[in-house]
Amino acid sequence: MLACPSSQDDVPIAGWNHSRHMTVHHDFDVQFMQQALALAREAPLMGEVPIAALLVRDGIVIARAHNLRETDQDPTAHAELLAIREAARQTKSWRLTETTLYVTLEPCTMCIGAIVLARIPRLVFGALDPKAGACGSIMDIPPEPRLNHRVDVIEGVCAEESQALLQDFFRGLRKEAAQRKSG
Ligand code: ZN
Repeated sequence: MLACPSSQDDVPIAGWNHSRHMTVHHDFDVQFMQQALALAREAPLMGEVPIAALLVRDGIVIARAHNLRETDQDPTAHAELLAIREAARQTKSWRLTETTLYVTLEPCTMCIGAIVLARIPRLVFGALDPKAGACGSIMDIPPEPRLNHRVDVIEGVCAEESQALLQDFFRGLRKEAAQRKSG
C-alpha cells in the first residue's frame, strides 16, 4: 500500500504490488485525494460510511460528495454517483469528458458503470474494496474491451489513509453495538 502523502514526484512508485492498472500518479492526484479524504472524514458525523468523491476538470473541483445512503435511505447514494450527478448539473452536460474522478474507495459495479456512461476518462481511487470493488477486486470493468469507453485507472493513492478511516469507523460502530448490548 502507498504511504501518503509521501509521493513527491512523477516517478513510478517503488514497491507497488498491483500491476493491473497504471502505477504512476502525480502530485496533484495526492492533493485531490487528500481533499476527498477530508470530505470523507465528515461523513460519519451524519452516520455515513466515510467514502467521498471529487470530480476535477482543468485542476478545478467541479463537484464533490460523500456517501448519503443512510441520510437519503437511497441504495444508490454512493459518493461517486452523487458527484457525477452534481457535475452533470453544474456543467449542463451528461458528458463529463476531460475530467478525473477521485474516490477514496474502489468503485462498485454501479459506480464504475456510471463512470463509463458519463465518459469520464480518468479514475483515481484509494483503497481496494475486496467485497464490492469492480475495478480489480471482485471484477475488473475498466479494461473491458466490449465497452465503448475506456477509463484509465490509477489505484492505491492514499490507500492506507482511506482504509484506516473505514476501519476506525466500523470499529466504532462495533464498539457502540457492544456497549448497547452490555448496557
Ligand atoms: Zn458505488
